[in-house]
Amino acid sequence: MKDLLKGIIDKNIEVTEKGKVADYIPALAKANPRDLGACIIDMDGNIYTAGEYRKRFTIQSISKTIALMLAIMDNGEEEVFKKVGMEPTGDAFNSIYKLEVEEIAKPLNPMINAGAIAVTSLIKGRDSKEKIDRLLSLFRKISCNDNIVINEEVYLSEKETGNRNRAMGYLLKDMGIVDGNVEEALDVYFKQCSIEMDCIDIANMGLFLANDGTIPKTGEVVVDEHISRIIKTYMVTCGMYNSSGEFAIKVGIPAKSGVGGGILASVPHRMGIGIYGPALDKRGNSVAGLRVLQSLSKQLDLSIF
Ligand code: GLN
Repeated sequence: MKDLLKGIIDKNIEVTEKGKVADYIPALAKANPRDLGACIIDMDGNIYTAGEYRKRFTIQSISKTIALMLAIMDNGEEEVFKKVGMEPTGDAFNSIYKLEVEEIAKPLNPMINAGAIAVTSLIKGRDSKEKIDRLLSLFRKISCNDNIVINEEVYLSEKETGNRNRAMGYLLKDMGIVDGNVEEALDVYFKQCSIEMDCIDIANMGLFLANDGTIPKTGEVVVDEHISRIIKTYMVTCGMYNSSGEFAIKVGIPAKSGVGGGILASVPHRMGIGIYGPALDKRGNSVAGLRVLQSLSKQLDLSIF
């Protein structure tokens, strides 16, 4: 397995040349576009790594999966799905225009920015500090790493430049989707996107989801199997933004990407996978990361379909 993973990483390093590092959040532009790394952790706890798997990167949109999990744990499904829908969009992750379509009247799903901001505003806590602390604790638990922190530079960079997200936050407030303080919700959102992890941490999260919400190492049940299934289903239908359909056909694994270059993938009852490759395609997915997952899926027969 280790050789197989190394072979796939080595073969796909040249694919990184086809993509570009995100620079709309200025601090992200510092990443090395040629980096590519991966980690697989199977149900027995075997860890396989290759390439730049130790590099830390901000998880960005990958955080939307676990923020949704906490919002459902805090409020129940019914309350959460009053504020956010269950349908893929076919639009870019930061698109705003469907919020103005009257029949829809709420963000289409929690994996696009508008839906994620709405979901994050539902996380319970006295203030933004308590909310992000609760979310960070959950991330630490399911990635089996107590040392996970927020990258302050990336957080401040997005807070300063995140005008589109800020616009969406205020529109959502006007629509009655965000109830509390908008700046507070945005602050938690920018911070959750700036949580820093490596491929091992991401693979552990994927394994936790693959194991239906129970941490395999400790046997701790963190979340109901049903909620874990909701998260994985969203990963299939909306996890790769407006490439989710193509990804489902070519790879067939629940996965969530982020503009920091990470991809979280979870193969039910088999393994968690963490990928890092900051050179992105036009839709914001790691260009080489997609190819790595495609090869892995083919060679290990991972598609769930
Ligand atoms: N923080 C990023 C944003 O809001 C997350 C987007 C992403 O990873 N696609 O734009």
